[in-house]
Amino acid sequence: MRLVIMGPPGAGKGTQAVMIAEEYSIPHISTGDIFRKNLKEGTPLGLKAKEYMDKGLLVPDEVVVEIVKDRLVKDDCKDGFLLDGFPRTVAQANALDHVLEDMNMGLDKVINIDVDKDVLIQRAVGRRVCAGCGATYHVRFNPSKKVGECDVCAGKVIQRDDDREETVVKRIEVYLEQTLPLIQYYKSRGLLVSINGEHEIQRVFEDITRAVGSGSE
Ligand code: ADP
Ligand code: AMP
Repeated sequence: MRLVIMGPPGAGKGTQAVMIAEEYSIPHISTGDIFRKNLKEGTPLGLKAKEYMDKGLLVPDEVVVEIVKDRLVKDDCKDGFLLDGFPRTVAQANALDHVLEDMNMGLDKVINIDVDKDVLIQRAVGRRVCAGCGATYHVRFNPSKKVGECDVCAGKVIQRDDDREETVVKRIEVYLEQTLPLIQYYKSRGLLVSINGEHEIQRVFEDITRAVGSGSE
C-alpha cells in the first residue's frame, strides 16, 4: 500500500500514521520527524530546517524533495510506504509523481484529515512529544500515564518549539496558502479520501482503514 496522509498542523496525521503503518506493515515516513531527528543530532540539514520550522514556515521544496527521494529508494519501501507531512506544496506533489513514475509506482490513496481551525489550535498547543522516541501525547486528549514521562520508552515528554500558539497560527496560515491546493490536486486524480478528524482517535483510525481498504480491491 502506497499512501499519503495530509491535513492541517495538529489534525492528527502523526497519531494516525503510527497506527496505519502498523496496520498495513509499511514504513512511516514523516518529513517533520526526519528534520527533528537531524536537529537533535546537530546535522547541517537539521540546523537549516530549524530556521524555517521555528518561524512556522516550510523548508524549501528542493531540500525536502531530495530527502524523500533518498528515502523512497530504500529497500523497506518496495512493498509500500506511508508519507506523513509530504507533499505540502504543489511543486512537492509534482516531484513525488515524477519520482514514483521513475520507479514504476503510483499512489494508492491520499488520506485527508479534516479538522476545524479552533480544534487544531487546541490540539497543537496541547501536544507533547517524547524527546527520546518521538511518541505523541496531548495534555488533555491523550496524556501519558505518568506526567512528563513517555509510556513507550520512559523518555522525557516535552513541548515542541513550534507548538507555541503564535507559531501554530502561522503554520495554519501557511497550510491554507500552500498545502490546501493539494486537496484538489489529488481529488482530480481520484486518489483523495477525506476523513472527519474531529472524532476520537480510535474512531478516526477505523474510518481511515474502512476508506483505504485492504488495497486489493
Ligand atoms: P499532526 O501530525 O497532524 O500535526 P498529531 O498527530 O501530532 O497531528 O496530533 C496533534 C495533537 O492532537 C496531539 O497532541 C495528539 O495527541 C492530539 N490528537 C490527535 N488526534 C486526536 C483526536 N482524534 N482527538 C483528540 N486529540 C487528538
Ligand atoms: P510536522 O512534523 O509535519 O508538523 O512538520 C514540522 C515542520 O517541519 C513544518 O512546520 C515545516 O517547517 C517542516 N516540514 C515538514 N515537512 C515538510 C514539507 N513536506 N515541506 C516543507 N517543510 C516541511
